[in-house]
Amino acid sequence: MKIPLVDLQAQYRTIQPEVDSAVRGVLERADFILGGAVSEFEAAFAQFIGTKHCVGVASGTDALWMAMQALGIGEGDKVLLPANTFIATALAVSDAGATPVLVDMDPNTYNIDVEAAKKALVPGTKAIVPVHLYGQPADMTGILDFAREKGLFVIEDAAQAHGAVHVDGRCGALGVASGFSFYPGKNLGAYGDGGAVCTNDDNLAERMRRLRNWGGTVKYHHPERGFNSRLDTIQAAVLGIKLRHLADWNSRRRQVAAWYREELEPLRSEIELPAEAPWTVEHVYHLFVIRLRRADRDQVLKALHEGGVGAGIHYPVPIHLQGAYSDLGLGPGSFPATESAAGQILSLPIYPELTREQVAAVAECLRQILSR
Ligand SMILES: *Cc1c(COP(=O)(O)O)cnc(C)c1O
Repeated sequence: MKIPLVDLQAQYRTIQPEVDSAVRGVLERADFILGGAVSEFEAAFAQFIGTKHCVGVASGTDALWMAMQALGIGEGDKVLLPANTFIATALAVSDAGATPVLVDMDPNTYNIDVEAAKKALVPGTKAIVPVHLYGQPADMTGILDFAREKGLFVIEDAAQAHGAVHVDGRCGALGVASGFSFYPGKNLGAYGDGGAVCTNDDNLAERMRRLRNWGGTVKYHHPERGFNSRLDTIQAAVLGIKLRHLADWNSRRRQVAAWYREELEPLRSEIELPAEAPWTVEHVYHLFVIRLRRADRDQVLKALHEGGVGAGIHYPVPIHLQGAYSDLGLGPGSFPATESAAGQILSLPIYPELTREQVAAVAECLRQILSR
């Protein structure tokens, strides 16, 4: 038995004819840069998320970074973000020239702790970047209230949350702008890099359309200095096909999560199962993250791998303990909830094609390891 963390080959087999013909269409039209498939996908994705605009860019990292650039966030500015996230959230802030201000996580949801964010607020703070980590909405009611009161921009990192729904609305439509990643393993993944910014703000969308295309939308006219960061047309064609399946795939992920809950219930004295927050209407289970109550997580992970289960850790090293951010001067002990989780969490395989039998096999493998 071999059960990978994600199985992109299994997914391709279910959509091969549609994808192959969409890609061939681009090759035949040869409109490789900002071709028809890009604007078609942007329109469809904006409609799915419920925003007026979607601007396709080269990656999720660029999406967040470009939203900050377009909002005028840069040198001397501070931006609040969770310590428990993928490095790209922080890089987007520092690449824009601003300084990340890290915040501990809420131990229940693994998302940014809003009360801690309030305490972390420093002069010069321009924005807050909540991450809808693992596919679960962050506490957006609390974040939006806090941001309104303090005059902060809310830029959602929705890289793991395509389709997730919060009681206040769909993730990606709640802040002034949101960044999505189409990295292959994401809930909506391309066959290469890709990303997008969603927004309801006309000026912001217009500015990002320039920034991604050397600072202009008319060939050889550059009203401002920009970058080369566009969503590739072949990737957009693939994404256009995959978007039609996203709602179904997300509900299958929820089904897989429900099976795990059933199968793992007897192990509750050994593990914590992921909690759904009261504000969560739809968790899209980009990851299914359990937490061991015991201290030998790395041995358990190794044993799972030996048993053919492709488990992972998201993430083993919090942002403040990465060499990349040693200059923040935040040592061990700075964010106790994040640090303690980093030593105990374990991501089990989850993807739409996973079967009930495979879920049972993963649970059985884990049960045997924990009973040793
Ligand atoms: C994947 C991811 C990103 C970065 O997206 P890329 O497309 O890989 O640049 C940013 N934030 C989070 C939370 C992610 O999971």
